[in-house]
Amino acid sequence: MQTVIIIGGGASGMMAALTASENKNNRVLLIERQQRVGRKLLATGNGRCNLTNTGAAIENYHGENRDFAAPALASFPPQAALDFFHGLGLVTVEEHSGRVYPLSDSANSVVDVLRFSLEARGVELKAACPVREVKREKAGFLVLTDAERLYADKLIVACGGAAGEKLGGVMDGYTLLGMLGHRRTALCPSLVQLLTAPEYPRALKGVRSDCRLRLFAGTSLLAGSAGELQFTETGVSGPAVFDLSRAAATGGKGLTLAADFLKDYDAPSVLALLRQRREALPELPAADMLTGIVHNRLGRMLVKYAALDANAPLRALDDDALTRLARACKDFRLDVRGTEGFDKAQVTAGGVKTSGFNPETLESWFVPGLFACGEVLDIDGDCGGYNLQWAWASGRMAGRLGT
Ligand SMILES: Cc1cc2nc3c(=O)[nH]c(=O)nc-3n(C[C@H](O)[C@H](O)[C@H](O)COP(=O)(O)OP(=O)(O)OC[C@H]3O[C@@H](n4cnc5c(N)ncnc54)[C@H](O)[C@@H]3O)c2cc1C
Repeated sequence: MQTVIIIGGGASGMMAALTASENKNNRVLLIERQQRVGRKLLATGNGRCNLTNTGAAIENYHGENRDFAAPALASFPPQAALDFFHGLGLVTVEEHSGRVYPLSDSANSVVDVLRFSLEARGVELKAACPVREVKREKAGFLVLTDAERLYADKLIVACGGAAGEKLGGVMDGYTLLGMLGHRRTALCPSLVQLLTAPEYPRALKGVRSDCRLRLFAGTSLLAGSAGELQFTETGVSGPAVFDLSRAAATGGKGLTLAADFLKDYDAPSVLALLRQRREALPELPAADMLTGIVHNRLGRMLVKYAALDANAPLRALDDDALTRLARACKDFRLDVRGTEGFDKAQVTAGGVKTSGFNPETLESWFVPGLFACGEVLDIDGDCGGYNLQWAWASGRMAGRLGT
């Protein structure tokens, strides 16, 4: 019998514990800093938990060496994760773009089936028990909490990253792995709101639009995305923005965001649409030029952005004015001033260097018996269930303990 200690009762830690418990020779101990396991999981997907994405591919992941993630993702792909959860009694539903949620629409369901299964499999749980220190012994590891000194033959660090501070995002995983000689990359918040020049976003707070986004550093294109954007008090948010946030956080200063609010129409078609409207409704004030095409508040703001006289009747607008308005719809620019911090981020870009671990087992190259999984490693995914898929896949692999 060997003792396996898993530090961190989040997504990857619970998966690692369940996997390790499949081997009857393992005594499995799961240690969680917070009062309950899966606290962050409860907040995922706006409380609905987007637990995987059926289209997950290595291109959806990032890190100094994203290929590191390939063996784990290949050995436990989304369908295997779904089979696993269905086996635990969870019923799921696939929505747009391959995003999978529990049918109950509640992240509680995901945490509950994991909890039930941990108990049924005899995993020993210590909650409200932060691990303060880990030491290497001649054989195995010493794990120190406030109250105890615990011995482990094998150790899995699954402490997550720094993102989502209020939900338990901490630096502990980096520190604990650092005690055993592992180094980390720089860290930055990802899947997070962008802070921009506030004038337009503030006026449009709460307005959503399905658009195409491009992020520029000067004239060079850094990243692109498509999907929902939402204006906020301080900038822009929403899935399409999140997908650019990693590039924004690492892209330096002087970035510009370009939004195309009519992505399914090319510039000549937009101009034709505006001309048609001028002809059909010559007495309509310019302020209403885009009514029926985009959200009313967004339409009025674009008229202002294009420097048109909002009170002028459409008949008074020449082709030059219509071209400016068409350009505003297709290439609306905002200066980017940064991103929100780790407290508002969904994931940490960067983490413990993957070069220190064997991608086929997630065992440390230089500390035998030590494994790491989940967000603590320098792998992060796009928005849409990819990060939890990495947590499940890497937790599954680490829990196999190299076998
Ligand atoms: C608001 C929000 C929404 C999200 N929505 C989604 C989504 O819908 N889909 C998706 O794929 N991803 C989503 N994510 C990202 C996803 O939740 C994480 O990538 C994932 O939970 C990482 O799993 P993990 O096991 O590595 O870390 P976590 O789930 O964070 O678990 C780490 C655990 O370790 C514990 N811990 C830390 N230090 C110690 C210590 N010293 N001792 C003991 N325990 C410790 C923590 O308390 C925590 O419970 C979201 C994140 C946030 C913040």
